[in-house]
Amino acid sequence: MYTDGQDKVAFLDRDGVINETPGGHGYVTAWEQFRFIDGALDALRTLKGKGYRLVVVTNQQGVGKGLMDIGALETIHRNLRACCARHGAAIDGVFSCPHRASDGCNCRKPRPGLIHQAIRKLGLDLDLARSWLIGDSPRDMEAGAAAGLNTLFIAPIADSALHPAASAVAPSLADAVKLL
Ligand SMILES: [Mg+2]
Ligand SMILES: [Zn+2]
Repeated sequence: MYTDGQDKVAFLDRDGVINETPGGHGYVTAWEQFRFIDGALDALRTLKGKGYRLVVVTNQQGVGKGLMDIGALETIHRNLRACCARHGAAIDGVFSCPHRASDGCNCRKPRPGLIHQAIRKLGLDLDLARSWLIGDSPRDMEAGAAAGLNTLFIAPIADSALHPAASAVAPSLADAVKLL
C-alpha cells in the first residue's frame, strides 16, 4: 500500500532505544526518571540530517496497569519532544499504546496498529524501501515487518541470531544510524 511515497521515516521504539529502560517495574512514570541513552540525542539529530522523519511508537501498558495516568505519559512526551527539538532532532510524532497486553488492542506491538495510526495522523507518504522500525524487542521487529518496514534490532551484542527476522542489527541507536 505505501510503496512509492516520498517520506523516509524512522519509527523508533522508546524504552531501550532512546532512553534507558528503568529497573524495578520497568516503566518511566515521570519525566524525572527519563534518562537518555548516551549518544541517542545525537543519533536522532543525525537521522534528521539524513532526511528521516522521526516517529516514536511505544507500548506503555504502565498506564493500563494504573502505574501512571495518561496525563503523566503526555507530560513525559512533551518534555521528550522539547528536548529533541532543542537538540536539532524535532520529532514528528509520538504514538503510544496505553493498553495492557491482556486488552487485545490493535495498537500494542507486535501488532502494527501504532505505525498505521502514525501514518494516518501525520499524513505520511511512506517510501517503504527506505523506512525503518528501530527497536530493542522482538515485538518491535514483528510490528515493523507487519507494516512492511525494514527492521533494525538494537541488541547489546551485535548478533543477528538474536532476531533472525531483523533486516539489520546494531548495539545502540548511535551505531544504528551509521547503517541508515
Ligand atoms: Mg523497548
Ligand atoms: Zn493499544
